[in-house]
Amino acid sequence: MNTVIDIRNLTRVFQMGNIAVNALRGVDLKVDSGEFVAIMGSSGSGKSTLMNLLGCLDKPTEGEYFLDGVRVDELESNDFATIRNERIGFVFQTFNLLARTSALENVMLPLFYDRRGRIKNPRRAAVEALTRVGLAERLDHEPNQLSGGQQQRVAIARALVNQPAIVLADEPTGNLDSRTSIEVLSLFQELNEQGITIILVTHERDIADYAKRVVELRDGLVRRDVPITARRSARADLEALPPDEVEELEAPRS
Ligand code: ADP
Ligand code: MG
Repeated sequence: MNTVIDIRNLTRVFQMGNIAVNALRGVDLKVDSGEFVAIMGSSGSGKSTLMNLLGCLDKPTEGEYFLDGVRVDELESNDFATIRNERIGFVFQTFNLLARTSALENVMLPLFYDRRGRIKNPRRAAVEALTRVGLAERLDHEPNQLSGGQQQRVAIARALVNQPAIVLADEPTGNLDSRTSIEVLSLFQELNEQGITIILVTHERDIADYAKRVVELRDGLVRRDVPITARRSARADLEALPPDEVEELEAPRS
């Protein structure tokens, strides 16, 4: 297994006037290719700060970050942005889709930043990503014509279209009802089975139980880092729900 994420003694201090806020105080974390990690912790424990650093949206105050063997925290801004665009897929609580823009165009968006032209046929790549999340029949739908769960699946397709090294999801089910949350988690489990490395932030133990490993932050430090022993299967949980209430799902194709 190759190491995708290797961070060493990462700190992040926010200077607020005279006050220094130590959001992260020396985090070490290694994640291998193919892992599904839940990052947990109460509000203010540093989860979003860590995600922003992992996603190359922010730089640490101190420490080292190697992504796929490349030291990224010392890159200058152009190269840092390129790494972010090419190597990271983001999924957010609020979906962050462009309104009045089709699912297909939303998913194609990251490819406009594909300056090195890694993806030869952007339209085809976007269709493939939407097919993968079960939305092949919804290419022309705009966000307001889709359910919350479908919008989040569009966002997941957008995260996948660049063939990233990791998918980072910050509270991806935070705006979804519990059934739709399990559907989205089922998709994450399926993608992970196909080899996608996923790091998911949540403050809910129920959600973390679908991952393979849980890393718990407290006051800017890793307090616990353990495998999930009684892992939940989202598909089995969905099947256990009353059938008449299950939303029509198109079978995702890979
Ligand atoms: P979580 O996502 O676990 O709720 P955060 O990473 O958002 O936690 O925040 C960790 C700590 O860092 C908190 O004390 C928060 O107030 C502080 N913090 C986060 N971002 C900033 C910022 N941009 N400026 C100042 N303080 C911040
Ligand atoms: Mg947060």
